[in-house]
Amino acid sequence: MWDKKKQDEYNAKYYLLHTEALKAYQVKYNIEHKDIVKKRQAKCYRSRRELHAEEEREYQRRQRINYPERMRAYSVKYRARHREELRISHAKYYSEHHEKVRVYSSKYRAEHPEVYVAARSKRVHQLKTSAFDLTTAQWQERIDEFNGYCAYCLRPMKKVTQDHMTPLSRNGNHTLSNVVPCCQSCNSRKNKRTLLEYIRIYV
Ligand SMILES: [Zn+2]
Repeated sequence: MWDKKKQDEYNAKYYLLHTEALKAYQVKYNIEHKDIVKKRQAKCYRSRRELHAEEEREYQRRQRINYPERMRAYSVKYRARHREELRISHAKYYSEHHEKVRVYSSKYRAEHPEVYVAARSKRVHQLKTSAFDLTTAQWQERIDEFNGYCAYCLRPMKKVTQDHMTPLSRNGNHTLSNVVPCCQSCNSRKNKRTLLEYIRIYV
């Protein structure tokens, strides 16, 4: 009859006797079946994460507290590397949890008014110190010039926004030569980039 204990003992003995050969075989196998090994590792990693989701979250939380600088640097690097995936997954999350996001951000706004006040006064200051002569008529002409299409994605705009090709925060001016109409999503995506920086990444 098969005896588990005996089998284990035999296996252990066999391993001791043939350690080198077994290790060499393992290395050879890993090299020859790279894809399978990778897949298996990823699967194992995923299921371990699922099993220990709670501990994992707790670990991440502690890391953020103990090494704030390092974690922030890592997350900046991560976001830069996965920009497009993150954009897609955020958009997906937003469209599926529209209401939740709205509630969360209005709660955040209420709890951190200083963040918004600071951003707002910075913006006002930027507008004050930049050349500022775009008239309403000029702006309307600009929109007509683009036939109501977004200057970047060339799709019809649901909501028309003003984009400063050189952002105000980077000493751009609020003048006709620096402002184009674009859709909300292109505007958020371009964010604080100059036109050139934006084109390099997305066009
Ligand atoms: Zn657009």
